[in-house]
Formats: sequence, C-alpha cells, structure tokens
Amino acid sequence: MKSQQDLRLQLKSIDHKSYPSYKSLRGAYRFPKYVLSIDHVQGDPFAAPSEVSVTIDAKAAGFPAFAMKDRLTRTALADLLLRGFAAKVNRYTFKAKGSGKSGLISVSHPGQEVLQRTACEVSETTVTARFAVGFPANGRTINAGELDKILFEYLPQCVEQAFYYKNLNADKVKQVIELAEDQQAIRDQLPQSGLVAFVADDAILPRESGISSKPMKGAVAFSSPERLRVTMQLPHRGKITGMGVPKGITLIVGGGYHGKSTLLNALELGVYNHIAGDGREYVITDATAMKIRSEDGRFIKNVDISMFINDLPNGRDTMDFSTADASGSTSQAAGIVESIEAGSRLILLDEDTSATNFMVRDAFMQKVVSPNKEPITPFLSRARDLYERAGISTVLVAGSSGAFFHIADTVIQMDQYEPVDITAQAKELCAQFPITREPAKAFALPHSRRVLEKAKNDAVRRRDYRSGEIKKGEPERLKVKTLGVDGFSLGKQQVDLRYIEQLVDSEQTAALGLLLKYAVEHLADGRRTIAETADWLAGKLAQEGMAFAAEHGSVSGGYAIPRVQEIYACLDRYRVEL
Ligand code: ADP
Ligand code: MG
Repeated sequence: MKSQQDLRLQLKSIDHKSYPSYKSLRGAYRFPKYVLSIDHVQGDPFAAPSEVSVTIDAKAAGFPAFAMKDRLTRTALADLLLRGFAAKVNRYTFKAKGSGKSGLISVSHPGQEVLQRTACEVSETTVTARFAVGFPANGRTINAGELDKILFEYLPQCVEQAFYYKNLNADKVKQVIELAEDQQAIRDQLPQSGLVAFVADDAILPRESGISSKPMKGAVAFSSPERLRVTMQLPHRGKITGMGVPKGITLIVGGGYHGKSTLLNALELGVYNHIAGDGREYVITDATAMKIRSEDGRFIKNVDISMFINDLPNGRDTMDFSTADASGSTSQAAGIVESIEAGSRLILLDEDTSATNFMVRDAFMQKVVSPNKEPITPFLSRARDLYERAGISTVLVAGSSGAFFHIADTVIQMDQYEPVDITAQAKELCAQFPITREPAKAFALPHSRRVLEKAKNDAVRRRDYRSGEIKKGEPERLKVKTLGVDGFSLGKQQVDLRYIEQLVDSEQTAALGLLLKYAVEHLADGRRTIAETADWLAGKLAQEGMAFAAEHGSVSGGYAIPRVQEIYACLDRYRVEL
C-alpha cells in the first residue's frame, strides 16, 4: 500500500495542473492512525464532490467488547461515531478555499432514528467512515495546497478525535449501547407478551413542527391506561411500564386534535430505534409494521386484491389486478395485500388518509345499493379475517365512523393527549346499537405472482457529447437521482415514494434507488418474482451492506439500509408496460 508520503508527493506534482489530473490520486494510502482511500474523484470543481473514506483498525480504535458485540451494538456505535465525526468535520468544511465545491467536506447528518448507514460502518475488525470532499481548485486549476490542508491537517484531527475510544466520552458510549439493547429487548418481548407495540410511560410523542422531528417542548407526556399497562424487564434500565398494544384489532378514537394521529405516527416510526432525548426511545413497534394509506394514481401490477374487490363492472380480473392509475380503494387494497406478502404482521391505518369506500359501507348504503352491485368488501368486513386467518393485526385511527367499534378488540380513546381504555364501554354500546353486517365473501389468502420486469425505454443510452450520437457498443445506463424522502428517478422514470410514510431519511430513498437499479439491471430476468427479488436484496444487504449495488465499484457515504418492507414497496411501484 502507498504511504501518506506518496500522496503528498503526488499532490505536489499535480499542483496547478488542470483539474482531471486529480484522478491520479485514486487509491489507498496508509496514515499513522488509519487508511485513507480516495475512491472516486470528481470530474470538475462543480461536480458532485469526490468520495473519500477512512478505515481504522478496530483493535487500535480500542472499543470495549460490549460495544463490538453484535450487529445491534455495532450499528448503535456507528451511529454515535458518525454524529461525532459530522460535528467535528463541520468546523472544517469550506475552510479550504477555491471555486465550485472546493473545500467542502460533507458527511451524513443522522436524524432522530438510528439507521444502519454507509457513512459509518463498524465491523468486527474495522471502523469505516465515508464522506465527500470537494477537491479545491482555482477556476479549473488544481490547488493542491488546499487539499493538502484538508487531508493532512483537518482530517487526521477529526478522525482521531471521532473514532478513537480514548477520545470519546465513555459514559456516552455505554449509554448508547445500553439503550439499543433495551430497545431490542422490548421488541423481542412483544410477541411473547401478545403485543404488537409498546409505548412507555413518560414518552413524548408529538414533534416540534411539521418540518422538525425533534420532540415538542412542553408536550403532555404519555401515561398508559391501567388496563393496558404492562411492565417489561430490560437488561440495563430494569423495569419499565407503559401501554402494551395487544394483538388483534385496536381502534384509536377521540375528538379532533386530541392526539390520535400523533400516537399512530409514533407507532409507525417505532419500527426504528430512536436516539436518547427523542422522547420516543421506548416507543417500540413490531419491526414488520406497515402504514398503509390511499394512494390515488399509483401503479399496481398483478396483485390479487380479490379479498377486497370483486366483479368490477369492466370485468377486470381482481385476482390478478393491474393498473397504471389506481383509485383510492384499489390502491389501498393493493397496499394491504402487498404488505402481507412483505411479511407484515401489523397494519397501521388512519381513517383520514384512507379511502372511505374502502374502509366502510354503512347500513343505509347497504340497503340502497345491494351487495351484488358493490364490488368492494370493505376493510371493516375483512379486518377480523386478516387477524384470525392470517395473523395480521391492525391499529386503526377512526374519527368519524363508529362501525369499527364492532370489530375492535381494544378501543383507546385519546382525550386531551391522554389514552383512556374504553373497550368495555364501547362493547356495551355495540350491544345496544347493533349494525347489520353484510356477509362477506369467503376469505382466502392472496396469491399474487408478480414477476419483476424491466421497463422499456427507461434506460438512457450514452451519447457522444459532441455529436449527440448514441455511442455504439455502450450499454444502456440507468441513472439514479434522489428526490429527498419523496422518491427518486431511475432513468426517465420517477418512482414516487411519498406515501411510504415510514421512510424517514433521504438516505433510505437513495439506497432504494440504487437497489432498484441493481434489481432492474441484474435480477429482472422475466422469471424472478418481486418477492424473490426483495428477499434476495434484503439477504444480500444483511450480509454485505450496500457494497454489491455500488456504482463506482466502492460504496460511498449517503445510503441508509431500508427495511425489506420498503424494498417491496419500491419494487411494487416501479412502472413497466402493462
Ligand atoms: P388528531 O389526529 O386526534 O386530530 P393530532 O394527533 O393531529 O390529533 O394532534 C393535534 C395537535 O396536537 C398536533 O398539533 C399535535 O402536535 C398536538 N399534540 C399531539 N399530542 C400532544 C401532546 N401529547 N402534547 C401536546 N400536544 C400534542
Ligand atoms: Mg388525525
């Protein structure tokens, strides 16, 4: 391996040359405390900054065994290290001067969730940090002196301070690892306790604002209703009490603005672990939970939605339903069926974001429009089958329709942000106000067979930039461009993930973009199903991280590993010709 001295000499030799000479720096260099690797060099000062990584020997970094124990603790440690590194790097960004992105040092900034990210990975033997550096230039002329400052002055300080255990706050490290283990302990205890979620007493659920996911100041802290209160034993914190959300069908009701959606949102994001101080540290949901909402206009292909929709007037087959422009009800039916396929054991719904005709049909409507003229078997008539026949629980926020009381196992009323268990009263009232329930068609688990296909015309062929002619022999290239958490474009297609509400970080969408590109280019063979593809990708991610899908042979920072449920959701929305 080359030494840091080699890098210095090479830097000197390209000073004042034209920008592309920076490409000669690619490679790995041994520094006293780490290996610096210049993985990808930008083409000009205004292009996306160059990709750089540092790898530290885990033994030398000196982390205690409890932090290096398993994937859970190493992910928590990596998250902590990344936050520290980002704070340190921030002080040096743009200190080096020049044109374009000269001197920019950019590192991922994690939000409230602890996610597995390529920006910092801790393995059994190494700690790797990946970030981007704008290689400095004056105009388009290399300014090697400024890059020398970044790589030989700023970076060594940041790396040493951020990644060596002796320079960290040992208590903080311990707390972070213990929190992760406590959170996992709750998640592990859910099934044996007959629960799908847990909300600790004193949790702070509301957020500061629609654009800030920091905790709301002065919020009413959560306090569990007695009948639903459970105690869990955690390895570090000891006993913790809170509300256990039982398996089955749980209804959250209450007047407007009393905190129903806030509770549901906290449950949605309880599939992730949150950092200390978030307020939702001990709000833990079954890891497979899926929030489903109505999604007008979405793409659906070969989904068996017949448990909800049958005998469409246009004669379309709902056992194998496809559309380029779904209605509210078909989109929601497909969403539920797809999440069954993705292994979800819990479905989260908010009446406010659901298609009304998908959810209920009231008695009057049943009288006027006879069942044989209504293709929809509403969710109301299916929720019990989903639980009793397929083991899928539901948590449903309902503000307007009382029909759901009749199918609920548990009813929680939010009353001025305080949950009250009103199951018994609700059941009594149900006896007094019976509903006529139309007999639903027999329930059968869906069997969709959805093959992953490659869209035609999506790929952009490489053109000669002077003549504009398509280069002969060049393979088609799909480019991924991330659009925040809303989705990404792949080639000419925009993949819309706005309604996948459990995507919280644009690094997750960035990863989904890369995974879809990989799937389309390497896995779509006209036989492999979406389920096989999603499971294959998730398995590969668990083993190797994002490296296999990387674009320049080495993965860059800026990707967060998504759940298999979101991989499914992304593959499900990739449009191909119908
Ligand atoms: P609902 O869905 O019942 O109409 P929301 O959950 O949207 O109500 O909450 C209404 C408002 O109350 C929101 O602005 C939310 O931030 C705020 N809020 C929710 N929970 C709390 C709480 N525990 N303490 C203080 N404010 C809260
Ligand atoms: Mg609401």
